[in-house]
Amino acid sequence: MAEILVYVDHVDGAVRKPTLELLTLARRLGEPVAVALGNGAADTAAALAEHGAVKVLTADAPEFAEYLVVPKVDALQAAYDAVSPAAVLVPSSAEGKEIAARLAVRIGSGVITDAVDVEAGDEGPVATQAAFAASFTTKSRVSKGTPVITVKPNSAPVEAAPAAGAVEALAVSFGPLATGTKVTARTPRESTGRPELTEAAIVVSGGRGVNGAENFAIIEALADSLGAAVGASRAAVDAGWYPHSNQVGQTGKSVSPQLYIASGISGAIQHRAGMQTSKTIVAINKDAEAPIFDLVDYGVVGDLFDVVPQLTAEVQARKG
Ligand code: FAD
Repeated sequence: MAEILVYVDHVDGAVRKPTLELLTLARRLGEPVAVALGNGAADTAAALAEHGAVKVLTADAPEFAEYLVVPKVDALQAAYDAVSPAAVLVPSSAEGKEIAARLAVRIGSGVITDAVDVEAGDEGPVATQAAFAASFTTKSRVSKGTPVITVKPNSAPVEAAPAAGAVEALAVSFGPLATGTKVTARTPRESTGRPELTEAAIVVSGGRGVNGAENFAIIEALADSLGAAVGASRAAVDAGWYPHSNQVGQTGKSVSPQLYIASGISGAIQHRAGMQTSKTIVAINKDAEAPIFDLVDYGVVGDLFDVVPQLTAEVQARKG
């Protein structure tokens, strides 16, 4: 059976959810071989095996921590050379997309980014992408070389599928470019305790209707009751009410959660571009004519200052 290389996104050995989703897709195409790099790489093996990795190639070296993406590309290319896979799947983070693009150039193939689905086709893997603010989907495949595909978080379920997960050390030699860009300082972001916006299963977003930075507390309270991430429209971000890192939309982040709750957001095309692929969309808006209601699964016409606290109280009450 063809082997499918899966690039592992992990933090000190803790595998992040988008990688487990990639394993689900990889199993549709062949036998997943995972590539885990950096500190704690070998600690990823158990979780990867539980979700279908037949083999886990690991490498650790100071270069992975001290320098940016090129050492990782060198390692992924070493894995590619060792395995000769039928496809390479990479999580669609900013780093993942850069790694994927560089690998595709090196191996003389094509790259498809931000896929929302991948399936086996007669002539190789077929990737689905959302286009034009997710109003359309396109299906494409790489016609030359081994496809390199990045997949957005929340595009596939996480499935238990126990496999051997045999750990093998990957021999990597770094080329002259690998040490070209050095990380000189890291400033850890203050943790909110909330899930990462692009990976969250539930996102609660606020817009101009929230009417002030201090009022975002009610959006955060609803998010916390649901274990959700907090998002914001550009209007709210531009007003300085919420950080740009939480902006959802064309010039912010793309999210695709199971549930997206938009409060006080009108539904401009640029906002929709970042959330339209959410599985279930709920909007709370006091204007019944707001365009957001054109794409919702459930709409509440009402004042968010009445509705959101009631919703939070109801969620809390049901949690007991
Ligand atoms: P508004 O459009 O002003 O809507 C506010 C809504 O809140 C209204 O529908 C109103 O009825 C409702 N409301 C008011 N008070 C209440 C209340 N008390 N209770 C309930 N509802 C209430 N936007 C993004 O979001 N993300 C992007 O990435 C992005 N990128 C852009 C890129 C470009 C190149 C351009 C030109 C624009 C971009 N925009 C983006 C901006 C976008 O066009 C809209 O201006 C923006 O999304 C509007 O934000 P909003 O819905 O919060 O505000």
